[in-house]
Formats: sequence, structure tokens, C-alpha cells
Amino acid sequence: TLTSTERTKLTVDDIGFTIKTSEKFHSTRIDLILKTWFVQTNGQINFITDGEDTVYQEKSGNKLIKSGCGKSHGLVDLCCKVGREYDTFMADTSKRWWCHFDDDNYVNVGSLVNYLDQFDDKKDWYIGRKSRPSFKSRYRTRWYVYEFGTGGGGVCISRPLAIKMEPYCGNGVFPKTCQAAGAADDCVIGLIATKLIGTKMTESPLFHSHIERLGKLNSSTLTQQACVSYNGKNVVNLPASLPQFSKEEDPTRILSLHCNIYPKENICAPLAKT
Ligand code: UDP
Ligand code: MN
Repeated sequence: TLTSTERTKLTVDDIGFTIKTSEKFHSTRIDLILKTWFVQTNGQINFITDGEDTVYQEKSGNKLIKSGCGKSHGLVDLCCKVGREYDTFMADTSKRWWCHFDDDNYVNVGSLVNYLDQFDDKKDWYIGRKSRPSFKSRYRTRWYVYEFGTGGGGVCISRPLAIKMEPYCGNGVFPKTCQAAGAADDCVIGLIATKLIGTKMTESPLFHSHIERLGKLNSSTLTQQACVSYNGKNVVNLPASLPQFSKEEDPTRILSLHCNIYPKENICAPLAKT
């Protein structure tokens, strides 16, 4: 096996970023992503959505993919979108990792790249953040107790594992797998990876969803986390010593966090010291 110094260093271009979203979130959540971490991915995020939107199609440089999936928050429609995420990743064989995020995630792209670079991506990896110790689903004739990475905390899968997932995920099969397991998309990814294939889940301390109390995250490590989120009043808490936008200008706190990581970005100019 190769050590990390013998492998080609991972770059952002090796990661296939996909996000499931919905038309109703384009002007808020997708807008915030386009203004922030989309830039560090070199504009490479594929947004799987459910409606026509010429404005955001143009703003994203044609990165909105109309899924053909239904617009509901139901199990099958959401699995349909994640299935499209999977197909989108598989179609671009230049990508070594598939990383799924929700549209209310903020990714520190530099941090994510450095983190993933520790893993040998010639092997099977399923990396995420657990929302609960374990989950139970009945699939085909038996019950499985397994771990899964919560979709809202970011999930990364190495290509060798993604290839093995193809019979359960590829070409429109994923919603059927979800229906058979009677579970949500992120659970079913966990079932497939950990039980149907047999890859242990790796829990990353750098991935965070809004299931956690984000305000409790150690503020001195915030700029090193790979993925955070926001939900109403559950937001990250930047130390008062750091430059930041007001709560009115930046209710999610994501812009302020981003500007403490990438202070030279144009949108961060208002925070620059004069
Ligand atoms: N989502 C979707 N269609 C819907 C509702 C939600 O595609 O009808 C997506 C949404 O864009 C997000 C993810 O599913 O990427 C989780 O949705 P949300 O954050 O609204 O809910 P949560 O499950 O986090 O409470
Ligand atoms: Mn959410």
C-alpha cells in the first residue's frame, strides 16, 4: 500500500461535490453557497434540483441538474435526488471521492481536501457524522442494525466503494432500494455501505449537521471544521474577537465564518481592516 507521500496529492478537482436541493431553496440556500464555498470548488458543485430556474442556472454556470424527481419531502422523491447525485458522480470518472452535502451545509473546502487526503482512496471509505448510535431497517428478508452518516452533516465515499454500490444505487435503482428498506436516503446509503457491502463507517470529527447544537462547537476550531450547517437559531458562534457581519446581515453566520477563512474574497471586503 502507498503512504500518503507516495500517492498523488488530493486536490479539490478530485472531489465530486453533489447537493440535493429544491426550487424553493435556490434564492436562499443555493445563493449563499454560490457566494461562498462554490468559489473554492472552482464552480464544480452539481446541484440536483426539481424545477426549472433560468436565473440560478446562469448564476451557477449551468450546475443545476433537473432531476426529474418529485418535489416532495417524501422518502422516494428525496432518494430519487440522491440517486441522481450518485449517477452524476459516477459519470465523471475523473473524481476520486463522492461528497454529498445538503444545501444548508457550509464546506471549508481546504479543510475537507486535507482531511480526505489522509485516506487511501484506492480503498473503500464511507465517511460521515452519525446522528444516532445505530439504526435498524428491514431489507429483503432480514433486519439490519447499522450506522449511517447523517446527510445533513456531509458524507464522502471513495470511488472504489461507490462502484460496489452500483447494484443498489445506479441508474434509477436507489429509490427502489429506499422503498425496500423503508428508510431515508442517508440511512439507506449507510445500510448499503456498511451491511450490504461491509465497509465500516469512519466518523469524522470535522463534519457537523444542525442536529448538533452548533453554537456549542469550540469557537477556536470553527475555521478548521470541514462542514457545518445552520437551522433557524441553531448557528455557529464566532468568537467576538473575530471580524464578523451583524446577525441581521448574516443570520446564518456562514458569511462571517467564510470571511474568517478566506478574508480576501470580494464579498468579505466590508470586514477588511482599514
Ligand atoms: N429537500 C428537498 N426537497 C424537499 C425538502 C428538502 O430536496 O422537499 C432537501 C433540502 O434542499 C436539503 C435536504 O433535503 O438539501 C434537507 O432538507 P432540510 O434542510 O429542509 O430539512 P432537514 O431534514 O435538515 O430538517
Ligand atoms: Mn437541514
